[in-house]
Amino acid sequence: MRILLVEDEPAIARDVAGALGETGYVVDIARDGEEGWFRASTEDYDAIILDLGLPKLDGLSVVRRLREEASTIPILVLTARGSWLQRVEGIDAGADDYLTKPFEMEELLARLAALLRRVGRHVTPLIEVGALRIDTRRLRVMIGGRAIELSPLEFRLLRYLAHNRDRVVAQSELVEHVYGSDEPGSNTVEALVARLRRKIGSETIGTRRGHGYIMETPAP
Ligand code: CA
Repeated sequence: MRILLVEDEPAIARDVAGALGETGYVVDIARDGEEGWFRASTEDYDAIILDLGLPKLDGLSVVRRLREEASTIPILVLTARGSWLQRVEGIDAGADDYLTKPFEMEELLARLAALLRRVGRHVTPLIEVGALRIDTRRLRVMIGGRAIELSPLEFRLLRYLAHNRDRVVAQSELVEHVYGSDEPGSNTVEALVARLRRKIGSETIGTRRGHGYIMETPAP
């Protein structure tokens, strides 16, 4: 899951990005409304967390512009304390949910997960593909009851493929969703897939040469 966080206050941006990263999301941060709108309309995100008070272009205008462009991306807005008008305006403009500052990080994570669930982008805590079990809350992987140690990148790759099982995922899509903004070369993805295959079994991840990778649900 790749999230765009649009927040101009460095401390909040750092804390939220940190918590999202620990939960396993890939996070990009935009520091003003212009950059936020631009990235949201040109790149592929699963959701946006958007502060309303932003330099250059305010958050409400970002929401309006995205909806005018017919973007259906889920948007969670962050509003100032006590500003009921901001909340109403935010929802009116097309935001899906709001959270009032200051907020507990746990609540933000829960709201985001609920939002992604509502739009069918599942953040189910447990993903099972054949004998493989991925616990996305505890960041643990088991195969037939045996725990597998994975690096954070290996874990993200595995989780993304498992979320998108039975669909060929292009290498460029993996780069976006697994690495975030620090983009590696394509051979880095190949090397990462190779390492993962050594740990979980080479048959688990299929290659479609020239197209990408696929994790297929084994026939019962
Ligand atoms: Ca702000």
